[in-house]
Amino acid sequence: MEPYADLCLHIDGERVGRGARRVFPVVNPANGEILGELPLADAADLDRALDAAARSYREWRHSTPQQRAGVLNGAARLLHERADALARTMTLEEGKTLAEARIEVMMVAGLFAFYAGECQRIYGRMLVRGSEQRSIVTHEPVGPVAAFAPWNFPAGNPGRKLGAPIAAGCSVILKAAEETPASALGVLQCLIDAGLPNGVAQSVFGVPDEVSRHLLASPVIRKLSFTGSTSVGRHLTKLAAEDMKRTTMELGGHGPVLVFDDADVTRALDTMATSKWRNAGQVCVSPTRYIVQQDVFARFRDGFIERARNLRVGGGLDPASQMGPMANARRPEAMERLVADAVAQGGRLDTGGQRIGNQGFFFAPTVLSEVPVDAQVMNEEPFGPVAIINPYRDEEAMLAEANRLPYGLAAYLWTEDSRRQKRVAREIEAGMVGVNTSMIGGADSPFGGVKWSGHGSEDGMEGLQACLITKAVHEG
Ligand code: NAD
Repeated sequence: MEPYADLCLHIDGERVGRGARRVFPVVNPANGEILGELPLADAADLDRALDAAARSYREWRHSTPQQRAGVLNGAARLLHERADALARTMTLEEGKTLAEARIEVMMVAGLFAFYAGECQRIYGRMLVRGSEQRSIVTHEPVGPVAAFAPWNFPAGNPGRKLGAPIAAGCSVILKAAEETPASALGVLQCLIDAGLPNGVAQSVFGVPDEVSRHLLASPVIRKLSFTGSTSVGRHLTKLAAEDMKRTTMELGGHGPVLVFDDADVTRALDTMATSKWRNAGQVCVSPTRYIVQQDVFARFRDGFIERARNLRVGGGLDPASQMGPMANARRPEAMERLVADAVAQGGRLDTGGQRIGNQGFFFAPTVLSEVPVDAQVMNEEPFGPVAIINPYRDEEAMLAEANRLPYGLAAYLWTEDSRRQKRVAREIEAGMVGVNTSMIGGADSPFGGVKWSGHGSEDGMEGLQACLITKAVHEG
């Protein structure tokens, strides 16, 4: 068996082991083997974490920007040093290829370095009203944050949940996914080793509904930050509303890709057929509905199918693999259901559509086309390696399809016409739009959605602002 990690909770600067606690078995998705047993927090653990979050916040909120920058820069350096080991842990827990995992560690390092700079630029302003009166507008940390991160980016999601609150002067209790705990603990350890004081960032795992209800019921927590499905996001937003806690919600998507007749089709294929298979499609900004204008439809579909068939699928630790297994047993089950329904509704299954092998959670790169709009896969986020390619007459019909769903996270468009680029980018309902590119994120740019895809942004100066409140002090 592959060497793995010692799993624990991290409360008030202490590693808390199993004791009499319940445990969760962490599974390697490439072969179904149990990697380790994760202790789950009980109510007393969560109360201890809340006390420590309240106490450490009282100090950390007064830290200087330089202190916070020192910790974040130090953690970024440690992430670089530990990148290979952390990437391997991510691949073991989640299945993604080592190459993708390594890039993800670098993204977290980049984000921490960015926030090390950005936290030194939290400016206020002064309003001067004659010689006797002035008002000062300042930004202060929002307070202790409860953050919930899913399994699909085992280091990236925890990095996002930790970086901005720490930069803002908040404390944070992170509940990362029970399925990928060692990666989250690895990111946290870099911050601790870089000098983050006890209790400023803590990590708990547990039964998700128990943990979120307990933390969100506490007046100590002043902000909820959640990444995951829209249904869970809706439930948590209601819990947060009881106490008027601030929220940042990164929820699901159903990425439309508009390919117009005047697009560079080869480039569109090389880019958008590659990004579909990233992390086996388990990415909230994954391209999903390929909305292709009729004159280039056949060429685009044929090129896509060929690329899907040529993809090398295998264990993420094998450097030859271009796509690993899906992250857990629920995903291939969902793929089978969605593909069967699409075919039953009259859609074409062009390639894939079934599991690969009888070990782990592998699913073949799948292309469906000419799928009716009522099929489940046209309405529900597949969150897997499934592309749907449908033909459309003109720009109006393509935009109508892109905006048909209540989701609005990432959208992509491919056209060489600069006026159309501006028009469609303006009309499309999405938080992020890629024009002739799949690159829609970066440490310095806001990441977030509209409509059912949530509200608020992570990354960029917006991610930091989301952890700050505004106060106006009026002096007479
Ligand atoms: P899920 O919807 O039950 O869980 C999604 C995430 O939310 C998980 O990390 C889970 O631990 C957490 N969660 C669930 N219930 C919770 C609760 N009551 N309190 C706090 N956290 C809770 O199901 P899943 O099978 O893990 O994922 C299924 C769907 O979730 C996917 O199809 C996708 O649509 C969505 N998802 C989105 C993202 C994203 O990046 N936006 C990431 C993972 C999953």
